[in-house]
Amino acid sequence: MPASLHALRLLILGGTTEATMLCQALEGQSNIAPIVSLAGVTRTPHLPKIAVKIGGFGGSNGLSYWLQQNAIEAVIDATHPFAATMSHNAALACNALNIPLLRLERPAWQPTPQDCWHTVPSLQAAAHMLATPALWGNKHLTVFLTTGRKETAPFQAVPQHHYVLRSIDAPDAEALPPHTTLITARGPFDLAAEIATLRHYQFDYIVTKNSGGNATFPKIEAARQLNIPVIMVNRPAPAATPCVATATQALHWLKQYQTASTLRDV
Ligand code: NAP
Repeated sequence: MPASLHALRLLILGGTTEATMLCQALEGQSNIAPIVSLAGVTRTPHLPKIAVKIGGFGGSNGLSYWLQQNAIEAVIDATHPFAATMSHNAALACNALNIPLLRLERPAWQPTPQDCWHTVPSLQAAAHMLATPALWGNKHLTVFLTTGRKETAPFQAVPQHHYVLRSIDAPDAEALPPHTTLITARGPFDLAAEIATLRHYQFDYIVTKNSGGNATFPKIEAARQLNIPVIMVNRPAPAATPCVATATQALHWLKQYQTASTLRDV
């Protein structure tokens, strides 16, 4: 096939709004043959109209093997900022095979003077903070957990509080702290709805990861308006990979890469 007609075989590591936007932008583009990979965590994911692979690769070696078997020429890692294992594996495999890798990651939220954030390095540290008597005295707190259903275990060590967990799918009951109310819902949630939820439960604290992006930001805005303190879990350290913040910038990178490879192949 002439270089100009070559459809670039692209792997997108997905599971985020940005990955979905990138997949949608690539639907029907004849010069790129994308496949998006999802971990298979969400039981009923929204699937784009491009090829989809569901399930892990089997570590960085499994990913290397899969990339070679599928003759992948470029990878965009658009996984969540907290999906550090997948990003690490992608960096290892792409470096070993000399496959260009781009990280697509939305910027972290930043506090304003109106926010009351306690930033912590991990969910364990968030739980530890809730266990500190100086914070809660003898009071049983009502805590909003928006951490995802698989990350509730650290709060089992602080069973004295009442937790409200919101997640897309129901969690395993054995991973929950004893006094937990469950809300199963899929975002985005608008500001009015978030204010109503925060008022309804009268939360003392909100625990969230610093995911960034617009989809789940209204809870932060609502907390600001209602003066509710937020325990904000910082992101893990990023891999040393070139990074862009939007699907549009990722498309631009792809176009540049394709132009450079076409010139090389002529
Ligand atoms: P993780 O800890 O970095 O990855 C754990 C394992 O899951 C990886 O080693 C890999 O298995 C598999 N995996 C992760 N992302 C994958 C993908 N896109 N395609 C194929 N396999 C994948 O990830 P995580 O934090 O459990 O997140 C899992 C997925 O949920 C990610 O795709 C992420 O984008 C999405 N997500 C995560 C969060 C969060 O807060 N962590 C929030 C929203 C969405 P193998 O080693 O077998 O390849």
